[in-house]
Amino acid sequence: MMERLDQNTKTEIFSDVRNEEAGGTPVVPVQHRPEDSFSFRCHRGVSCWNMCCHGADVTLTPECILRLSRHLNVRPREFLAQYTVPAMWERAEMPVAKLKMGGEDGKGPCPFVRAEGCSVYENRPATCRYYPLGLATVKLKDAENKDDFYFLVREAHCRGHEESFAQTVAAFRHEQGVEGYDSVNRGWMDILMKAVSWKVLGGPYGKEMTPQTKKMFFMVSTDVDALRQFIFGTKFLDTYEVAPEAVKALETDDEALLHLGFDWMKNVLFNEKTIVMKRHILQAAVAQIREGTGAS
Ligand code: SF4
Ligand code: SF4
Repeated sequence: MMERLDQNTKTEIFSDVRNEEAGGTPVVPVQHRPEDSFSFRCHRGVSCWNMCCHGADVTLTPECILRLSRHLNVRPREFLAQYTVPAMWERAEMPVAKLKMGGEDGKGPCPFVRAEGCSVYENRPATCRYYPLGLATVKLKDAENKDDFYFLVREAHCRGHEESFAQTVAAFRHEQGVEGYDSVNRGWMDILMKAVSWKVLGGPYGKEMTPQTKKMFFMVSTDVDALRQFIFGTKFLDTYEVAPEAVKALETDDEALLHLGFDWMKNVLFNEKTIVMKRHILQAAVAQIREGTGAS
């Protein structure tokens, strides 16, 4: 079983089309690297202005939730209740939050779209920043590191592709400010990527991921206050090695909390050594296993 884990893995993270259309996939099947160019420009003068902000399929990353909550001056729990719907990220069957679009069928306007454009522009979600690019991460079985590549999403209603404004993927990413999002979300993307390959294999060690574990993943991904409560209100800090200065930071630093949450999830889900159990806890666990198996 284990050697099957060591295979090529490809995960599309931001590939959600913003506005579903009939007539085939709008994803252009060409891989782009940061230095590759493409033509696109979005501005108020386009005839399709704001069209993509109706019925959009926007998965919210942990950093998207933090930034939008701060922008609106609410805590993530309140933001989630008012502006999102829970959904299943099908590629990995993992629970995520999506922006709640208007209308009974969800094809209506985004709650943040105004005639003049996006009212949360400085803190708009990563999917909105990436559009019309998609991001995919690949891990080749013999490679040590993962590799990112990009692809174009060319939806018929989007006239931005007709603009003669060429730019490299790297320049577009920089202009859209996605790097800050990606650096916080990297651990979360790693988890999704691994979950995709383990979905194919039937979960860690061939088992299904339990609903409880998925619930914990959703909590870590969406609600830093619940995560903080969990870390400080349970035996978490008695169980795991966390440096005193890091513990201090966790009291107020939401992004630091996310990083710890992702490390903990990687350990729980995939047994990665991203967080270390305290020695006496480990010894007690080993003793208990020995007792159970009758080993001395
Ligand atoms: S958050 Fe802004 S850019 Fe994204 S769909 Fe809503 S209005 Fe459009
Ligand atoms: S050009 Fe594309 S991204 Fe810009 S408003 Fe039109 S549909 Fe949206």
